[in-house]
Amino acid sequence: MFVCPILTKKRNLHRSPKKEQGLKKHRYSNLFRESASTLTWLGQKSLVCKHGSCKNDLYRYIYTGHSVETKNMIEKNTNGEVWVYAETHDGALQNVSLELTGKARKLADKLGVAVGVILPGNDVGKVTDKLIAHGADQIYLVEDKALTDYRTDPYAHVCTELIKKHRPQIVLFGATPVGRDLAPRVASATQSGLTADCTDLEIADVTEKNGTVHTNLLLQVRPAFGGNIVATIVNYDQWPQMATVREGVMPLGEPDTKRKGNVIIETVPLFDRALFAVEVIKREVEKHKLNLGGAKVIVAGGAGVGSKDNFNSLFDLADALGGEVGASRAAVDSGFIGHEHQIGQTGTTVRPALYIACGISGAIQHRSGMQDSAKIVAINTDREAPIFSIAHYGIVGDVKQVVPMLLQAFRER
Ligand code: FAD
Repeated sequence: MFVCPILTKKRNLHRSPKKEQGLKKHRYSNLFRESASTLTWLGQKSLVCKHGSCKNDLYRYIYTGHSVETKNMIEKNTNGEVWVYAETHDGALQNVSLELTGKARKLADKLGVAVGVILPGNDVGKVTDKLIAHGADQIYLVEDKALTDYRTDPYAHVCTELIKKHRPQIVLFGATPVGRDLAPRVASATQSGLTADCTDLEIADVTEKNGTVHTNLLLQVRPAFGGNIVATIVNYDQWPQMATVREGVMPLGEPDTKRKGNVIIETVPLFDRALFAVEVIKREVEKHKLNLGGAKVIVAGGAGVGSKDNFNSLFDLADALGGEVGASRAAVDSGFIGHEHQIGQTGTTVRPALYIACGISGAIQHRSGMQDSAKIVAINTDREAPIFSIAHYGIVGDVKQVVPMLLQAFRER
């Protein structure tokens, strides 16, 4: 299924002009008819007013009646590389960047092109070997003291300049706080599209309704409409195709330390003082105590656990197994446990060796964050609960009785 963001806007366009006083209905209808064919199926194409007064403003275009033309900033480049933005914190490479490099390798092999990695920062050159071992062919290294701390404007400028220069066909960012901040800026600056929080990425040919075939597009798969459907989003006329992916969604491949790659030193002038309007005075990083992403065992509780006190037995079980405690959104919303423990579509994505789901029904939004766990054990009073359909082992019973029994059994071993 293809979801066209413009179609959603189209509905809004019907409504918005009514609010505008003095706007004659027939005038709007004519304009809408005139533009409808342009709006439909353009996907993420941006609209630029020829008059220049209302650039990228769809609503004002409709109000003023100016004619529009579409404009591509980055020319289509079917030989372009598949790129990954490498995120570092204090010089340490984030796992999501390695996961994405592995995925980029697979996409690039299908396209017959190279994998490139943008690596901006200060003193970050030491992580290039890791990136190459996970599949990178070229690392575009931009080292500058001014890039020591992440700041949106200079980092977005570096990425945009490199994209303009090398014209990759795909750029992937981690859906981390930094990636979520940076990727939309870069997408806007390059006038390309961006699909957030993808759960899968593939390469395939796409046929438009009018029969036009687009070869080798990036299929950007993500849940839509509150997770009730899985939408595949394509962008066939704005380049590069860009997406963000959360940590843990793509499996981390085994590194190949024998792989060879090139490190290309890039210089991006950062003279513009406006880029540094934000000054970093002090950085305080809260100690990250919970490590759901890296846990081998997760004991997760849902609404069925019943209370904050009852969660204590889940913490005991997790302790005994050397694991972490996770939770469903219902448990978090009920105040049984903190939000940082939430697993699922709007929480953390995990794939531990063992996932014990206690009093969790198994809603799609929860499953999307844990269904790739190697072994799933579900404890639920309802034998029809959907969680049993993905569990390797199921226990029909009350968590308040079953969890202490499991704990005792593990402690005795
Ligand atoms: P319930 O669905 O209420 O299930 C409780 C289960 O416990 C039932 O199966 C019941 O039979 C069982 N039970 C009751 N008592 C006992 C007992 N004593 N012993 C054993 N079993 C018992 N949810 C997430 O988890 N993560 C997300 O990231 C997430 N993101 C969302 C994003 C959106 C946009 C939306 C719309 C929803 C999202 N949700 C998410 C919510 C999701 O749809 C479910 O509502 C939620 O996962 C349900 O949590 P639950 O299974 O704990 O609760």
